[in-house]
Formats: sequence, C-alpha cells, structure tokens
Amino acid sequence: MAAQLIDGKARAERLRAGVKDSVAGLKERHGFVPGLAVVLVGEDPASKVYVGSKVKQTEECGMRSIEHRLPEETSEADLIALVQQLNNDPEVDGILVQMPLPKHINTDNVVLSIDPMKDVDGLHPVNAGSLVLGKPGLVACTPQGCVLLAKQALSNKLSGLNAVVLGRSILVGKPVSLLLQNENCTVTMAHSRTQNIEEVCRSADLLVAAVGRPEMVRGDWIKPGACVIDVGINRVPAPEKGEGKSKLVGDVHFEEALEVAGSITPVPGGVGPMTIACLLSNTVQAACNLRSMPLIAAVAGY
Ligand code: NAP
Repeated sequence: MAAQLIDGKARAERLRAGVKDSVAGLKERHGFVPGLAVVLVGEDPASKVYVGSKVKQTEECGMRSIEHRLPEETSEADLIALVQQLNNDPEVDGILVQMPLPKHINTDNVVLSIDPMKDVDGLHPVNAGSLVLGKPGLVACTPQGCVLLAKQALSNKLSGLNAVVLGRSILVGKPVSLLLQNENCTVTMAHSRTQNIEEVCRSADLLVAAVGRPEMVRGDWIKPGACVIDVGINRVPAPEKGEGKSKLVGDVHFEEALEVAGSITPVPGGVGPMTIACLLSNTVQAACNLRSMPLIAAVAGY
C-alpha cells in the first residue's frame, strides 16, 4: 500500500495562521508588533529568493520586516557592527543573517555576535546548548519543522520509537537527534563512516534523512510502515523534462519509499515549507521572551 503523504505545505500554512493570530493578539492586547530583521550580504541568487520569501511571509503574518541588503565586499567588522546595532534596537525582536556568507567573512564570528534572545535561527551556541540541556531556547528552524511533521504523521506518538537520523550536521542532523531524544525516541545517528548503514536505517520506526545525496535511501533501506522525513533538497538533471532541464529530489528515493513506508514527506512540499514557518513562530516566541511574557496560546498550541 502506498505511504501516506505528509503535506508540509498545509502544515506550514496552519503554523503561519497560528503566528498571524498570535501577532494580532499581541498587537491588540499588548500594543506591540514583533519585528524580524533579515540581513543579506552579496548577490547569491538562491539567497535572494529565500530572503524575498522570508520578507513576504513575515509581512503576511502581520509582523514588521526590517531588511538590510549589503554589498558582497562588506567587511566582517561592518557586518558585526550592523548585528550589534540590531541587537540594541528595541524595534527588532529577531535577527536572521542569511547563509552562506561571502568567503571572506567568518560565519562563526557573525553567529556569535547575535544576541541569543534574538537568534531566531537557533544557531548561537547558547541556544544550541539549551537544546543539549533540554532547556527552553530558540530551536533551529528546519529541525523543528522535521519534528512537527513527524508528530503530525505519528499522531504525537513518538515516545519509545527507534529513530535513525542520517547526517550529523550542526544545522540539521544534530539538532534533529536532540529534539527526538527530548520526545523520548531512542535515537541512532548515522553518517558517512557508519557501517551497515542500510541495516541501521531498516531498524528505524522514524527515519530522518539529511545527507545531501540525491535519492541515497532506497526502498529496501526502509522498515515497512516507517515514517520517513526527507530533508534533502538536491537539484539533478531531468532530461525527461527537456534538454538542460533539472528537478528537485530528496535524499530518499521517493517512488521506492512510497511502496514501503507508512508515511513520507515529498520533495518539494515537505520539510522545505516548514523552515520559514518555524522562523516566523520563533520570531513571535523571541518577542514574547524579550518582554518576559509567556508564549501566547495560538503559537504555543499549534
Ligand atoms: P551537510 O552539512 O553537508 O551534512 C551532511 C551530513 O550527511 C554529514 O553529517 C555527512 O556525514 C552525512 N553524509 C554525507 N554523505 C553520506 C553518505 N554517503 N552516507 C552517510 N552519511 C553521509 O548537509 P546539511 O546542511 O545537513 O543538509 C543536508 C540536506 O538537507 C541537503 O540536501 C540540504 O540541501 C538539505 N537542507 C534542507 C533544508 C530545508 O529547509 N528543507 C534546510 C537545510 C538543509 P559526515 O559528518 O560523516 O561527513
């Protein structure tokens, strides 16, 4: 039987609706509107598209969007000076510096310069550390999106499941594994040195693939009925669509997985849309934290 499709677009839309309600509530009852500052350095075409979507969706949720577009040759010191200015600006609740940064800028130094309270990307060591400790903090957006989708597919019954996370990056694999441990999964992390990786994957009730290798996970790597969250976004040639055409595929061979899994995220339309939605909900959370307010119900209960 074909797996159930986990619709990330619909889930993200629901989350954004929760954010929109929360923003309206904050404005009406507390007299402020959260603001998200997005900083883009250079002309990377993909980054420009991402920043455009972030700005648009921020405004659609009723929040203020503050945009800073800096030239490619901006120095690290000037970028950090801007971040510090945003740290001190009471109109700014969240700061997102779009990655990747130009090669002459040290990304770690920039991330470290962001006020952890405004670090809506959840990348600052204070927030990453809070996740390790199981304490409240701002959680990285894509990992948060993965877990929300898994919870939806599994009706919130994650406790006790065997979860395998393929990939151990700081951005995706590691935070996903920590979030799943917090959900009481038994988590195995697999990576490029893992032996018998197919077998390890086959032990998973919940498999999260974040390796950046097109269609690496084949159907026979998947336990029948498992929930599969495919984080990969890989552009590959698609001669069937015409000469020079390409398409997006995940890290999982979708057609094969569809025959075996219980539920699966498509690519595109799975984890991708959740990332910006989680960024917006993190911004509302940051705005509440900065004012020592509990997170208001619409987002807390999404
Ligand atoms: P990354 O930093 O390149 O990390 C890849 C991880 O996969 C590493 O831990 C690596 O292991 C492991 N790996 C690579 N080849 C492997 C193999 N043959 N067998 C087993 N493990 C292997 O990538 P990332 O930033 O985590 O991103 C992963 C994928 O998610 C990419 O396709 C990216 O485009 C996508 N992504 C999507 C979103 C979204 O919004 N949907 C957001 C972020 C990333 P080692 O540590 O041993 O080298």
